[in-house]
Amino acid sequence: MPAPNIDTIVSLAKRRGFVFPSSEVYGGLGSAWDYGPLGVELCNNVKQAWWRWLVYERDDIEGIDSSIILNRLVWKYSGHEATFNDWLIDCRKCKGRFRADKIVDNKCPSCGASDWTEARPFNTMLQTKLGAVADDDPTAVAYLRPETAQGIFINFLNVQTTMRRKLPFGIAQVGKSFRNEVTPGNFILRTREFEQMEMEYFVSPTAEHSKLVDYWVEQYLEWFGSLGVNRENLFLYEVPGEELAHYSKRTVDIMYRYFPEREKPWEELMGIAWRTDFDLGTHSKNKLDAEGKRLNPDSTEDLSYFDEAAKQRFYPHVIEPAAGVNRTVLAVLMDAYSEKTNDKGETRVILKLSPQLAPIKAAILPLAKNKPEIVGMAKAIKRSLQPVLRAVYDDTGGIGKLYARQDEIGTPFCITVDHQSLEDEAVTVRDRDTWEQERIKVSDLADHLQKRLKPFPVPESI
Ligand code: ATP
Repeated sequence: MPAPNIDTIVSLAKRRGFVFPSSEVYGGLGSAWDYGPLGVELCNNVKQAWWRWLVYERDDIEGIDSSIILNRLVWKYSGHEATFNDWLIDCRKCKGRFRADKIVDNKCPSCGASDWTEARPFNTMLQTKLGAVADDDPTAVAYLRPETAQGIFINFLNVQTTMRRKLPFGIAQVGKSFRNEVTPGNFILRTREFEQMEMEYFVSPTAEHSKLVDYWVEQYLEWFGSLGVNRENLFLYEVPGEELAHYSKRTVDIMYRYFPEREKPWEELMGIAWRTDFDLGTHSKNKLDAEGKRLNPDSTEDLSYFDEAAKQRFYPHVIEPAAGVNRTVLAVLMDAYSEKTNDKGETRVILKLSPQLAPIKAAILPLAKNKPEIVGMAKAIKRSLQPVLRAVYDDTGGIGKLYARQDEIGTPFCITVDHQSLEDEAVTVRDRDTWEQERIKVSDLADHLQKRLKPFPVPESI
């Protein structure tokens, strides 16, 4: 049973320290969110799982971390300055402003009227100015990147030559992106500042691009499955020709059921696009148009690739799986949400997070916090586990409350130290999902927990 709606997750996230509304002391900032102590761990674990899966476990992908602010010309030649637009319309009745493509049944979401202005483009790149310059100096304009991908394209040759790569190979990057969204909202689903996990997979112009799109769709479906996202809550959307971005010949979106309570429950979780050779070509000094004129007179590099075997030079094509960290976190939280009734008839929330994503792997709880020997033993166990996995010590309530709290934040194991532990050097290990308890020798504890966590590697912090 996933969460019945996003609001359930919003209140859990705030109550338990995952996500807080940003700038709340000043009344908030429209749709900006801050990640708390557990949220930052969950995000880091998602990013680490992704990085491990692509960069460490495969042999054909390198990682980079490029600047957020790039030379403005990157955004000119990528086409973002001219075309990274949302289409805006205003409701003549209530003066509300909306994204034209998000209007359902031609009705204003605020007042229900159907009296609209003409749609007009609005560039959603966030601008800033570099240096101590005059407000109106147009040469100082810079953008906060709206996608991480361009930082990869402009580094294509750097990575290819320094890492001695041959096609096919990929470059992965995770980091913040910014879009001046017209209508942000729905918690962390759509914000103006967010994080992306993007990978550009470079292949020959004669590769079977459409099959490669299918391949990466399958790979990501499996990966989301490994994070605990239920396949039934994912849906594939073949983006129709008229909706494709200017660089794409084919895009498949993986949608998640973020709105189970609505008639139209799906929203994009990620997209997998065949971006052709557009980006490498557009940033290259040697690419010519039909009349033999340079397409990019500003570039000083040619981002083409020489294929030794075929003795051919060309611009590689690209298959791009682009996923959002925040939307992944939201999908993971919604699918992990469950409720269970205890012996007393009380309903408890259990966050059945995949152990690799759980912010805390084990909570060490003393049964009597006024007994120094028990407290000392519990703290020593916590310290001994800390190098192996993320463990916390907690004595801020009765044992029932402590269990409930750990269940609600998704901690897979609670370790209880009781009076008997002082004699038999053993502790009780309680399983989050079954509530079953086992007695384990302290000397075997780290091994025992690691074995049970084993199918899911425990991320080191990043
Ligand atoms: P949408 O149609 O929902 O605006 P998009 O198609 O513009 O999304 P892409 O450009 O394909 O999004 O970006 C890749 C991924 O980055 C998205 O699938 C999503 O996970 C994430 N993403 C994009 N915009 C936002 C945003 N404003 N807030 C949070 N995540 C975002």
